[in-house]
Amino acid sequence: MSKRILVTGGAGFIGSHLCARLLEMGHEVLCLDNFFTGRKSNVIHLLDNNRFELIRHDLVEPILVEVDQIYNLACPASPVHYQHNPIKTVKSNVLGALHVLGIAKRVGARVLQASTSEVYGDPQVHPQPETYWGNVNPIGIRSCYDEGKRISETLFFDYHRNNGVDIRVARIFNTYGPNMDPDDGRVVSNFIVQALNGQALTIYGDGMQTRSFCYVSDLVEGLVRLMSDSGPHEPVNLGNPGEFTIKELAHLVTEMTGSSSVLINKPLPLDDPVRRRPDISRARRYLDWQPRVPLREGLLPTIEYFRSQLS
Ligand code: NAD
Ligand code: UDP
Repeated sequence: MSKRILVTGGAGFIGSHLCARLLEMGHEVLCLDNFFTGRKSNVIHLLDNNRFELIRHDLVEPILVEVDQIYNLACPASPVHYQHNPIKTVKSNVLGALHVLGIAKRVGARVLQASTSEVYGDPQVHPQPETYWGNVNPIGIRSCYDEGKRISETLFFDYHRNNGVDIRVARIFNTYGPNMDPDDGRVVSNFIVQALNGQALTIYGDGMQTRSFCYVSDLVEGLVRLMSDSGPHEPVNLGNPGEFTIKELAHLVTEMTGSSSVLINKPLPLDDPVRRRPDISRARRYLDWQPRVPLREGLLPTIEYFRSQLS
């Protein structure tokens, strides 16, 4: 049945794919964004659809809407952007969560929080299951994001326990694909743009730190399944368990772009997690979900997308 769905942060990288997917499913989509890191160009092709509406709004301010479901994605995801104005990042997380939970409570909507693997901080358990409480520096340069996302989860569970709000919490691991901002500062976009421009690829630290990269279509499928009736009132990891060192990623990108760029080392940012890989048993069990797109396959359309942006 067709639903009215609010997607906050809908003009961002993941949000734009989610809006498109929800429209394909026949839903009505309200895309809300303050365009801090999101871009109108990500959703311009959706504007012709009369089931799509674009609202410029900053979620640190309350908003009244009548909807059946809410996906709360409004928050910059790249360390460069979330550290640009850390207090604003905390506000977007905390006030944003309070505002979507307030709407959900008032109108009885189901609400999903885009949480993050960063709630595990620099993890001492590997791979990370949802039962792991994490190892987070509460006062470091990543804390505005990590702790912001952690308190958002707290608010979601308190609204669920105290007010019966129907919540979903997705802990998203590094996701990549078309519609990423070329200047976003994240590793996949940086490396591809550098390789295509013939610039040196900037490896932070020794490049032996690992990440697990999930292609955006897999992630969106996981979010939609989590929002369904079978989604649990428990956090669910969504990510690709394939684990790569940053150096491996750099070599893969230079090979696949046919670039002759060299690799250079830059200082490792503070509190940069050493290892990261999701345990996705819970998503498999509840949602019958697992990623389908291996890194090499997902990098192909991503490289093509960046090529089109640069030409
Ligand atoms: P993104 O930066 O491309 O998208 C975030 C969107 O939120 C942007 O369109 C931005 O303009 C908007 N936004 C930010 N603050 C806002 C505010 N106060 N009011 C309204 N809109 C606001 O990032 P993304 O990669 O698409 O991430 C989407 C969500 O998923 C974020 O909440 C992020 O924390 C989470 N997440 C992403 C990843 C990833 O690897 N991409 C990993 C973990 C979690
Ligand atoms: N990184 C890098 N070079 C870059 C950008 C990032 O080596 O140009 C590293 C970064 O230090 C981290 C990893 O790549 O170890 C992933 O960084 P990203 O900012 O994409 O996301 P994170 O998982 O750290 O939030």
